Formats: sequence, C-alpha cells, structure tokens
Amino acid sequence: LNYAFSGYATTIFEVMSKLAAEHKSVNLGQGFPDQEGPESMKEIASKALYEQSNQYPSLLGVPQLRQAVARHSEANQGLPCDWASETLITVGATEGIAAAFMGLVNPGDEVVVFEPMYDSYAGMAQQVGAKLVPVQLQPPNWDIPRQQLEAAFSDKTKFILVNTPHNPTGKVFTREELQFIADLCTRHNTYALADEVYEHLVFEPHQHLSLRALPGMAERTIRLGSAGKTFSFTAWKVGWMTGPAQLLAPIIKAHQFLVFTVASNLQHAVAYGLDEADWFYRGLGLELQAKRQQLQPRLEALGLSVLPAQGTYFLTADMSSMLKPGEDDVALCKRLTVEAGVTLIPLSAFYASDARPHNLVRFCFCKEDSKLDAACEKLAAYI
Ligand code: PMP
Ligand code: GLN
Repeated sequence: LNYAFSGYATTIFEVMSKLAAEHKSVNLGQGFPDQEGPESMKEIASKALYEQSNQYPSLLGVPQLRQAVARHSEANQGLPCDWASETLITVGATEGIAAAFMGLVNPGDEVVVFEPMYDSYAGMAQQVGAKLVPVQLQPPNWDIPRQQLEAAFSDKTKFILVNTPHNPTGKVFTREELQFIADLCTRHNTYALADEVYEHLVFEPHQHLSLRALPGMAERTIRLGSAGKTFSFTAWKVGWMTGPAQLLAPIIKAHQFLVFTVASNLQHAVAYGLDEADWFYRGLGLELQAKRQQLQPRLEALGLSVLPAQGTYFLTADMSSMLKPGEDDVALCKRLTVEAGVTLIPLSAFYASDARPHNLVRFCFCKEDSKLDAACEKLAAYI
C-alpha cells in the first residue's frame, strides 16, 4: 500500500498547540481567547437542545440565524441581504472558504491572495487545482505593492481573497486600499471573497469597512463571518456567508456535500447573540486594544520590534535580536516553547511563496493578563 496522499503538512496551529501542551508552555500561538462569549448564548444553546428540533435543519441553516445574519449585515455595513437567497450558514468560516474554492474554481483558474495569509487558503487552492497568485504585503505597515497587485490580475483570475482585518498582521485595510482592489475587480470582471471574520476586532479610531460595501462590489463579493471570532466561541464552528444569490448558488452546491448543514442548537444561540448580545462584540475592539497597549512596550523592552496594527488579537514582532545564526522563525518558535516556555507562531507559516520572511512571529494576545505577564516574564528570564 502507498499511504502518500495529499502531501499537506499539518497546520502550524495544531503543531504549535501540541508542542505547547507537551511542554506546558504559555500558549500565545493559536488564536483563541481565554475569555469566552456571553453566558446567555450558552443558555440558549443548551435550552435549544430540549426545546427545538434535533433533526437536520435546512442545508442553508436555520431561518432565525439567516435572518439575524441579514440584519447584522445591514446594521453594520449598510449591506441589505435577502435572508432567503443571500445567506448561508457554514461550519465556521473555514468551511465557507473551502466551499467557495470548491464551488467557484475550475482547475487552472487563478486566485489572487495577499501574503501573509491564513493557511487554509493555500490548502484549499491546492485541493481544487487553483493557481494561487500571491502578492506580498510590505512590512512594517503591510502596504499593498500596487503595481504587483495590478500585474497579478489576468483573464484567468476567478477571484481575489481579501482578509480584513487581517490575520496574522492585524492590518485593517483602508477605504482607499479597498477601492484600489475594487477597481481591479471591476476592471477585470472578477469576483471577490471577503474574509471578514475579525470585523468587530478593530481598535479606535479605525473602522472596519467591508469590501462588499464598495460601489459595484455587492454583486460580485461573497463575505464571510464567524461566531468563533465575533463571540469568542471558537469551538462552536458556526460561520456565515452573505452574497448575491447567483454567486452563492455554486457554493451551496459544494456545502451540501461537504457538511450538508450545521449544529442547530448553536445556530439558535448565534442568532440570539447577533441580535441581543451585540454588547459583547461591540466591546471587543477596546478590550483588545488595551491588552495590546500593555503588551507592546513589554516586548519592546525585550529588544523586539513590534509592527503596527489596527485590529485583531494578533501582534507581529521582529525577532531578529533573538535569532541564533542560521536559525529561522520556525526553529525559534520551537526553541522558545521548549526552552523559554512560551509558544508563538512563526510568520513564515502564512506564506505559500518560497520567498518569505524568517524573522517575524505572531503573538496572540486575547489572553488573561496573568498569562501575558507570565509570557513576558519567561521571555525576559530566558534572554
Ligand atoms: N479566516 C481567518 C482569517 C481566520 O483567522 C480564521 C481562524 N479562525 C478563519 C477564517 C476560520 O474561522 P472559523 O474558526 O470560523 O472556521
Ligand atoms: N484562526 C486561528 C489562528 O489563526 C486558528 C484556526 C485554526 O487553528 N485552524 O490562530
């Protein structure tokens, strides 16, 4: 028997979380918050198990959640949606991304992405035979190299994938940057996939603007959201998509054979959350901003250089001062887990191109202050 199949490497999040558990390190790697979402949503989720049907909901999702998603889209981005034809509930945004690649791409189609990028994009592109065309955001501000982005579009481009607020950099794309992207989409008549799972995790005075909200983009953009990020319930794996019915249709076809549908009690709880527990996600940006403001000077005091960001719960830092000769970011993150007792994520894991930085790492800071303190103390003692 030959057991060599897809050739995927194990995702960096699993690798580093496993290593963190083995070494009992302070895990600032994988992105999940210490503080969970509203109790009231947990109560609705458990009540729904007893008071609602426990049989397959519609493959599109429960109507209450799809209606809430449509209201949320209009209230937050001024983007009205017909809940019955323009919404889909997915098993986290991850499944939405997979279904979009499967539904929209034919082998040989090109997909433009920004590097660094969330690692599932490259995995899904490989799975469906898409040719990924990466454009590298330029540190420290993660600027778009505009000429390169223009050159990345061709008559084979199926869609551009834009993640704002951005994992792993924390960049929130400006209106002007999004307009530049939108102009390219209209000029080349391509679609866009807008991964906006961190839409509510933005620092003041910045604001999240959806790519779908730009003129001419609503008809060509699919937008993704996640209850994992919006309500700090990453284990629930409930996500949503909004977009024009004709563009959503092939994605729904892929979704029906990927998972068919999503746990219904969790959908009821998320529906309640979007409407009634908006206080939770509206407060997240400020809380995270305060945590970042505490962490940044402490890392700088250790000789690390912290890159600017406007949102998310990730901070990127230049670790050059800690790298041993010949060591890269992956080896450094493993060494820090084993020897210093702190786990981080190497940024090179967010690149598909061979040319990638090897001096940057990502800190996830949506953690109890005591954990952030412990991580800083361990690093200080180790250096
Ligand atoms: N997109 C980005 C940019 C992410 O960071 C993540 C990680 N959570 C996802 C999508 C997937 O979200 P979910 O947990 O809802 O599948
Ligand atoms: N999105 C999370 C992160 O970037 C993790 C998701 C996962 O583990 N697949 O850390």
